[in-house]
Amino acid sequence: MVFESLAEKLQNTLGKLKGKGKLTEKDVKEAMREVKLALLEADVNFRVVKNFVNKVKERSIGHEVMESLTPGQQVVKIVNEELTSLMGKEESKINFADNPPTVIMLCGLQGAGKTTLSGKLGNLLKKKGKKPLLVACDIYRPAAIKQLQVVGGQVDIPVFSMGDKQNPVNIAKAALEHGKKNGNDVIIVDTAGRLHIDEGLMDELGNIKNEINPNEILLVVDAMTGQDAVSVAESFNEKLDIDGVVLTKLDGDARGGAALSIRAVTGKPLKFVGMGEKLEDLEPFHPDRMASRILG
Ligand code: GDP
Repeated sequence: MVFESLAEKLQNTLGKLKGKGKLTEKDVKEAMREVKLALLEADVNFRVVKNFVNKVKERSIGHEVMESLTPGQQVVKIVNEELTSLMGKEESKINFADNPPTVIMLCGLQGAGKTTLSGKLGNLLKKKGKKPLLVACDIYRPAAIKQLQVVGGQVDIPVFSMGDKQNPVNIAKAALEHGKKNGNDVIIVDTAGRLHIDEGLMDELGNIKNEINPNEILLVVDAMTGQDAVSVAESFNEKLDIDGVVLTKLDGDARGGAALSIRAVTGKPLKFVGMGEKLEDLEPFHPDRMASRILG
């Protein structure tokens, strides 16, 4: 389970604080040292950890907390609030267009889970009464188009493709026209990924963005890659000014470092998390619930 070890360590450390009637500055500092180590072990970005611990310390070492009747509990409350705010305070939703169709562009490295997410997101939106269209713009990876068609078929959502001989910018443009004509109110564009970030990929994504002017650019990153996911997010954000991040494979990520760092490092919210391979395994990301899950 994600955050398993972090949760255990934080609960243990904070439990000790709660057990004390009165707190000294030394108690808080010692606890924060343990919190810092636990966060670093969970692979949270170093700067993020430092800021976080300093904030909690600053708020905890003061008359109001130290001289309250339940100082330990106050510190736990502060940790909870700061963890929540680290991950974005409240749930961030998709920007829907005032005039449909809403265009959602998915991007990310190969294997991050874009194609799967196209199906998951389409499925989620369809359940909410939308009429999505999936668009196959990955013309490079063999079988990518077929994979999207299979995914679309599983959730009974149409897939627009023009084979692998057309330029992705033209495919995206044609898909928009097609979607408008067919009453699709959400158009989900699955773009190509590469094993590594390269200029060709970024230029192509930039061209698609300029052409179709998406309401939402979602970056898909693999939670299991930890801090690599965070630096991938930084690069994509720099080039494309993304609107949000989807963290996939959180079901297989025991540490949770990317989930705790991405928002603070990029300034962009985590909007959804992938919790499995099935097309139902997508959840909106709730920072407060995630924080409570960590603190028990
Ligand atoms: P793409 O190259 O970015 O389009 O990636 P794919 O959608 O093909 O996904 C790559 C692999 O990750 C596939 O085997 C998916 O089943 C798997 N995958 C995607 N999302 C998740 C997730 O949230 N959890 C798990 N466990 N596997 C996932």
